Amino acid sequence: MVHQSFHPIVSAGHLEVICGPMFSGKTEELIRRLRRTQIARQHVLIFKPAIDDRYAKDDIVSHSSQQLPSIPVTQSHEILATVEASDRRVEVVGIDEVQFFDDAILNVCNQLANQGIRVVVAGLDLDYLGRPFGIMPQLLAIAESVTKVLAICMACGASASRSQRVTVNLAEGDSGQQVCVGAAEKYEARCRQCFVPELDTPSTIPEAVV
Ligand SMILES: [Zn+2]
Repeated sequence: MVHQSFHPIVSAGHLEVICGPMFSGKTEELIRRLRRTQIARQHVLIFKPAIDDRYAKDDIVSHSSQQLPSIPVTQSHEILATVEASDRRVEVVGIDEVQFFDDAILNVCNQLANQGIRVVVAGLDLDYLGRPFGIMPQLLAIAESVTKVLAICMACGASASRSQRVTVNLAEGDSGQQVCVGAAEKYEARCRQCFVPELDTPSTIPEAVV
């Protein structure tokens, strides 16, 4: 008798993480992967945190204006509930801006993948101070596949892995918060050398790289 445990039936269930700084094309890469699954007529559900309403309430939208319809949720357990309530078997789950979710997103991604679902998530790996963002380190650890995408440093043109905060709106009281939903005018992509872990002025070129 052949023991199946050594050669299990290949399951589609796994976790893919796409991470990087702002303006690195994370959402574009997420949309590209999800579009291919839709072309293959797989049943895909796409989620995003309700906090991220910068472009369109029910779409995930990249900075280059590509978009896919998505379901905004406020808590990660709503993702499991929505998948379970689906009238058709869900084969792929996409999650954008995953760094904004509560810590339970880790368990949600694990449970979905364990059920045989391909889970593709995109998020910021570092906050504007250069610190690992929320639950992202744990998500990266449990993922089968990690793709780090880089932007281009807006100060020197090198590859950029950091998101530089360049303006602050004190009237909104949003200074010092890790969660500041990105708008292009508030951030710049920067390389390690040009990154200043405090507020910086737009497109400041440090003397060291002039
Ligand atoms: Zn630079």
